[in-house]
Amino acid sequence: MILPGATLGMLGGGQLGRMFTTAAQTMGYKVIVLDPDPLSPAGIIADQHLCAKYDDKVILESLALACDAVTTEFENIPASTLAYLESKTVVHPSSKALEKTQNRIIEKQFIASLGIAVAPFLPIRTEEDIDDVESHIQLPGILKVANFGYDGKGQVVCHSLDEVRQAFALLNQAECVFEERIDLDREVSTVLARGQLGDISNFPVAENIHINGILHSTTVPSAISDEQARTVMEIADKIAESLNYVGTMAVEFFISKEGDIITNEIAPRPHNSGHFTLDACETSQFEQQVRMLCNLPSGNCELKSPVVMINILGDIWGSSQPDWHDLLSIPNNKLHLYGKQEARVGRKMGHFNVLAASTEQAMVVANNSFERLKAD
Ligand code: ATP
Ligand code: MG
Repeated sequence: MILPGATLGMLGGGQLGRMFTTAAQTMGYKVIVLDPDPLSPAGIIADQHLCAKYDDKVILESLALACDAVTTEFENIPASTLAYLESKTVVHPSSKALEKTQNRIIEKQFIASLGIAVAPFLPIRTEEDIDDVESHIQLPGILKVANFGYDGKGQVVCHSLDEVRQAFALLNQAECVFEERIDLDREVSTVLARGQLGDISNFPVAENIHINGILHSTTVPSAISDEQARTVMEIADKIAESLNYVGTMAVEFFISKEGDIITNEIAPRPHNSGHFTLDACETSQFEQQVRMLCNLPSGNCELKSPVVMINILGDIWGSSQPDWHDLLSIPNNKLHLYGKQEARVGRKMGHFNVLAASTEQAMVVANNSFERLKAD
């Protein structure tokens, strides 16, 4: 058990690392953040910020020495970095778990090997691989870079083999996966926390709307049936068990028009669609991450209130900041900003949660508040 007063390491200084840092500091831990960006959202609030690359051995050595345990907010930390830290201190999730989620091909093959449905896919490593597309996948499909994709970046929708060839060239012939485009009814996700003894606690299933491949809103509870929600959680639990995962983890799902549940991807960390837990659950996904890392009992995951979360992207910054006063004039709007200096299109700057008596009411308030924020 690692008790308050101890020092925790965070690999990655983005907003997820920042919200972990806040949760850990609230509970009395010290946090050291490693991130090469001098102005990273987590680095600027951490007890200490190591501003260095993720493979800097000297820095990793000092991080391991200073920290009782280390975790991550970012699946693209080199697995070798985690493996190195594992030889020196407590690290969760493990390098082995991360390796399975860093590359889309490995990830999909792993999920499929558990007998869990994924969208039909084909690895594309060379021009010739594209010739096989039509015998495996019904067009249209989506060509996705296998490594380092996020927020829909490195993805191209293709309606013909010619378009796949053009897209592959556009993506610089990087290793890719070509995936059937599912006719979506809904998208949902679920966040869970798994402890060192294999105990799992599940947050309620969240329903997500993406715009241009970026999460726009999350609504909880989801409108899917109880049976579908149970299945979604069972699949997520099975994946976590197979990874021998320790920590907070999320799984994203497609629900097709036919009602099939298709697993999209795994996030070996807290997830944007779990930000509702900050205000609507007894325990946030970040507090769970702290608890799991420190081998403490998991907190209560129950939902206290229906909630809608809306992401605030850099797109809505004009010559000045959005009108936060107006947003906060609604007493149940809870604002979370990540302390990013520069607002850019598509950049996640913050989010707000709206609690209400029903998801319908929360949605009306959330949409209205967001329209006003945008119009500003
Ligand atoms: P993130 O890591 O931020 O979730 P990502 O870059 O890994 O994003 P994906 O989850 O693969 O991206 O895709 C982003 C969104 O694009 C999905 O949530 C979904 O809305 C849409 N999308 C992706 N793949 C498919 C598919 N095969 N069929 C239908 N829609 C898809
Ligand atoms: Mg995704």
